[in-house]
Amino acid sequence: MLDKVVIANRGEIALRILRACRELGIKTVAVHSEADRELKHVRLADESVCIGPAPSDQSYLNVPAIISAAELTDAVGIHPGYGFLSENADFAERVEDSGFVFIGPTPESIRTMGDKVEAIRAMKKAGVPCVPGSDGPLGDDSETNIKLAEKIGYPIIIKAAGGGGGRGMRVVHSEATLLNSIALTKQEAGANFGNDMVYMEKFLETPRHIEIQILSDGQGNAIHLGERDCSMQRRHQKVVEEAPAPGITEEMRAQIGQRCVDACIQLNYRGAGTFEFLFQDGEFYFIEMNTRVQVEHPVTEMITGVDIIKEQLRIASGEPLNIKQSDIEIRGHAIECRINAEDAKTFMPSPGKIDRYHPPGGPGIRIDTHIYGGYTVPPHYDSMIGKLIAYGCNREVAIARMQGALSEIDIKGIRTNIDLHRDILADSAFQAGGTNIHYLEKKLGL
Ligand code: ADP
Repeated sequence: MLDKVVIANRGEIALRILRACRELGIKTVAVHSEADRELKHVRLADESVCIGPAPSDQSYLNVPAIISAAELTDAVGIHPGYGFLSENADFAERVEDSGFVFIGPTPESIRTMGDKVEAIRAMKKAGVPCVPGSDGPLGDDSETNIKLAEKIGYPIIIKAAGGGGGRGMRVVHSEATLLNSIALTKQEAGANFGNDMVYMEKFLETPRHIEIQILSDGQGNAIHLGERDCSMQRRHQKVVEEAPAPGITEEMRAQIGQRCVDACIQLNYRGAGTFEFLFQDGEFYFIEMNTRVQVEHPVTEMITGVDIIKEQLRIASGEPLNIKQSDIEIRGHAIECRINAEDAKTFMPSPGKIDRYHPPGGPGIRIDTHIYGGYTVPPHYDSMIGKLIAYGCNREVAIARMQGALSEIDIKGIRTNIDLHRDILADSAFQAGGTNIHYLEKKLGL
């Protein structure tokens, strides 16, 4: 097992990683910005190193400072968490070239999955279902592109190979705007992602977002931990997630899960990862793979009993996976609400001092958060301040427990989106289950 790990992140995920390390007897080094001295995990870590001023580009994205901190403290591995440098292949390479273990996939895997055209190519080869589209990047020939769009059938979507975070995409409804849209997306992609390659896909109009969690040891063993439904989104940001996904049968889960497992083995993938799919009319369509732990991993942990972060650490230590697919049993239902420091109506960020914090409790309630009474939420980072997770023997019980927890939780001093969560949990379509990715924005009148 790794002896000492640098946690190259902040907030709730840094604390989550620290807790997993502690359970495995791994020593921890918190690296933090000047604005984050008061973070809970910084206090709890065995050692801490300030790596720069508040802005992320000078601290959490400051590669030399993070590597120096690892050298200074004699750490063995670096855990990137999510966001920041977690899907940066150059960072993973620098970590490995400096003699440390990157707790994640190889730089090659990150690079392949970071290029959507490459990722789709790899998935097709492995038999993972993809959205009907152009096989590879679009060329310059107008006639060919017009024919291609016609064949796929409007509406279609033009996407940048290097795009991310919901940027670099354009929906086209008819031939009239096709060529212009391709040219514009290409231009934007070149300017924003340094890669002007674009491709075409069928635009699915009412899909759900369903994703498969996998664990793969890079030694020929891989398993899936079932799916999560993350369709409740606003501006491509997930707001509520749950597992399992309503309406997905055991057969469907086993089939799509096996495809993902096959892809991991074929790619010799190492680490935890997520295959994201759009799901419409009973079919799965691959859109991208995330080569890191995800914010919503707890709902999967609750229904499988597998600690995903501990598995990441074991895999990074070189241990072969000691869980078999037949050991995985989906039990009960879990829901996660992302708690943000923002106004529940306007979504304006609301950093500042938390005067009072009373966490909810009771059976099946888990809260992953770094906040405490007296903590000041800095304005420099993402507004998510924690995740409230409710588990129950079935979806109804999980919903009832979440509603109880949302009525108990008390955060004063800053504004939060807790009222939005209360509305969502009380919504009849949410309670019925299976809403599509546009539902929340429609409900909000956006
Ligand atoms: P990013 O890396 O920017 O998150 P994705 O490929 O994951 O890009 O797509 C982000 C979102 O865009 C999806 O969750 C979905 O809402 C929408 N989207 C992407 N491709 C399609 C498609 N073919 N049909 C309909 N919606 C799509």
